[in-house]
Amino acid sequence: MPSNMHTTLLTELAELAKIAVVGTLSEAYRTCGTPGCRCHAGGPKHGPHLQLVYRGVTGRTTSAYVPMAAHSAIREGVAAWQALQTRLRELAEQNRAQILQRARNERSRAAQERANVGATEAGRSSPTGKRKNFSPAVGDQAKRGR
Ligand SMILES: [Zn+2]
Repeated sequence: MPSNMHTTLLTELAELAKIAVVGTLSEAYRTCGTPGCRCHAGGPKHGPHLQLVYRGVTGRTTSAYVPMAAHSAIREGVAAWQALQTRLRELAEQNRAQILQRARNERSRAAQERANVGATEAGRSSPTGKRKNFSPAVGDQAKRGR
C-alpha cells in the first residue's frame, strides 16, 4: 500500500497550508518625489514595490500593498500556495488510483467468487443496469504562475 507516500504528502500539505497565501505578486519600480534623486536621473528606481493581487471572498479582484517587512513571508506564502496546488493534485491522483484499483480488485474478486459459485447460481444476471458515461469534466485551470 502506498500509504507511506500518502502520509508524507499529507504532512507536506499541512506544512504548506500553515503559511500559504492566495494571490499573485506584481512588482513595480517607481520614481520618488525627491527632486534630484538618482531615480530621476536615469539611475535605478525604487523598489520593488510589491503588490499582492487576489480574488476576495466576494469574487472581486483585490490587491494589497505589501510592506517591505512582509516581503519574504508573502513571497514564501505565495510559493507555498502554488506548491500546495501541485501536492494536492498529486494526492488526489493517488486517491483516484487507489479507489479505482480497489474497485478493480473487488470486481475481480467478485468475479472469482461468482465463478466458484457459478455452478449453483447460474443464470442470474448481474444487477448492472444502464450505465451513463460520466466524465467529471476536469477543468484544468492552470493559471499563469510566476
Ligand atoms: Zn528617488
